[in-house]
Amino acid sequence: MRITIIYDNTAFRKDLQSDWGFSCLVEEKGAPKILFDTGTNGKILLSNMKKLGIDPLSIEEVFISHLHFDHTGGLSELLKVNPNIKKIYVPCSMGLENEVILKEPTKIHENIFSTGELEEIEQSMGVITKKGIVLIVGCSHPYMGTILDTAKKFGKIYAIIGGMHGFSEFELFKDINLICPTHCTQHKKELKEIYPEKYLEGGAGRVIDL
Ligand SMILES: [Zn+2]
Ligand SMILES: [Zn+2]
Repeated sequence: MRITIIYDNTAFRKDLQSDWGFSCLVEEKGAPKILFDTGTNGKILLSNMKKLGIDPLSIEEVFISHLHFDHTGGLSELLKVNPNIKKIYVPCSMGLENEVILKEPTKIHENIFSTGELEEIEQSMGVITKKGIVLIVGCSHPYMGTILDTAKKFGKIYAIIGGMHGFSEFELFKDINLICPTHCTQHKKELKEIYPEKYLEGGAGRVIDL
């Protein structure tokens, strides 16, 4: 599987624009191409996509972690360019025609699941791989322990990627093999110090093949 970070507070590739927000493309064999969150600004989203060689028309589904502007802001612009997006998974209604509201842990494809809306704010997405679960988080507003416990229902967690806000209970990550804290994560430095061999720098343009 491949995760490409398109939108992030920092830029991994210098030709891409950084901006507060998060979006990544999730490509898993046998599943539709899913865009996880859409960043803040649709123009930056589409421009970074173009530079990354991602055709917006190739996106088949969108997964929205939660309804904060830095995760939903690019959606309307994307839908203008690609009105054929079949499904938009949301934790609570955005009033869209093709939205799928997920309140419970749910498999959305054979090897892809949502934790469902946790603590009435946010859902995370997991991809089930041979190595374990690759967990993608938007801002981690719910308690991290709850996110991890819900994801563990689908298997051992191999990797965690995304925004982790003020998360500081670092021992919760001791059994995870790959940690890519990005977007709003406040304690990147500490995570890097505690888990140097597991730590992976995020940023727009980072491609993670697992
Ligand atoms: Zn948020
Ligand atoms: Zn955020």
